[in-house]
Amino acid sequence: GATVDLFSIEESLKELGQLADTAGLLVVGSTHQKLDTPNPRTYIGSGKVAEIKSAVHALGVETVIFDDELSPGQLRNLEKSFGGDVRVCDRTALILDIFNQRAATHEASLQVALAQREYQLPRLTRMWTHLERQAGGKVKGMGEKQIEVDKRILRNQIGVLKKELESVRKHRKLYRNRRVSVPVPVVSLVGYTNAGKSTLLNQLTGAGVLAEDRLFATLDPTTRRVQMKNGNEFLLTDTVGFIQKLPTTLVAAFRATLEEISESSLVVHVVDISHPLAEQQIDAVNKVLSELDVSSIPKLMVWNKVDKVSDPQKLKLEAENEKDVVCVSALNGDGLQEFCNAVQEKLKDSMVWVEALFP
Ligand code: GDP
Repeated sequence: GATVDLFSIEESLKELGQLADTAGLLVVGSTHQKLDTPNPRTYIGSGKVAEIKSAVHALGVETVIFDDELSPGQLRNLEKSFGGDVRVCDRTALILDIFNQRAATHEASLQVALAQREYQLPRLTRMWTHLERQAGGKVKGMGEKQIEVDKRILRNQIGVLKKELESVRKHRKLYRNRRVSVPVPVVSLVGYTNAGKSTLLNQLTGAGVLAEDRLFATLDPTTRRVQMKNGNEFLLTDTVGFIQKLPTTLVAAFRATLEEISESSLVVHVVDISHPLAEQQIDAVNKVLSELDVSSIPKLMVWNKVDKVSDPQKLKLEAENEKDVVCVSALNGDGLQEFCNAVQEKLKDSMVWVEALFP
């Protein structure tokens, strides 16, 4: 790819792999190429197309994901070149898939549906030229008309979704109030993709520190009911992760998926403290948090992956000097009890706050 931003191609592809994993795909390999300018027809060069084609057929690959946004023409040409039923998609489509799976509120679903349709609109040609080919070119021209019809349908849907979003936003408070009656405090996990949120979620419920309520787990795979040894319990919920290279067209949809955290009792910010860009990632998360309606919600920061840093002792001392920071290794369980104690401590504060608000 012709990436010209902060992140190296390798780093960006690594993140793309993590996103594919989050979307439920099994990644079998990756490749990249340095070109001065992307090939206008196929994005990558013809030699690279041939190389991927043979690998794809040897391995039985179903999907090829490109790290940058492809033009509708490039998408079509690549699918044609790879042949078979190989599906080609780009980073934007993959992220939209994840957002769609994870949208937890009505507003988030609408915002993601809107982004999906806006993404589809210029890409409609693809479907119909396929059909024309299958019909041996006999219906030439019919596809054209159908594209126009479909575009009109999409534009209508976009209009309807925008209106609905507007009305949902106006009545947001109403929607919220209906959901406030949760008898158990809700703790939201936020942080970059790969920070270790789901590992933490699984460790807390699996390692015996906390007990998992399986009935509840089947209702929503990203929320667990966790019970402390002293009998106190809370709901721990994972949010869709931050992404280094988030296409600008998806910013609104991403924020909408985070809206739900404004209803939680505590926001836990998970950081991969071993990451070379940890500080920048923390700033980026804090910036988005400050723009959401969460300023009154208590926060706790988790420095995760302490097992990976060169001097864990020094890091722990640093954390002790910070306010509301705990060091953990979600992988080996180090610091999890301290984390739970800190959550308890924070929730105590929030209970006082809730009582004060609704005497
Ligand atoms: P999420 O995207 O925030 O949910 O991150 P995951 O929980 O999927 O973790 C991403 C990767 O980091 C996985 O390969 C985990 O095994 C790894 N990981 C998570 N926590 C730790 C940790 O404490 N130490 C180490 N060394 N690796 C970890």
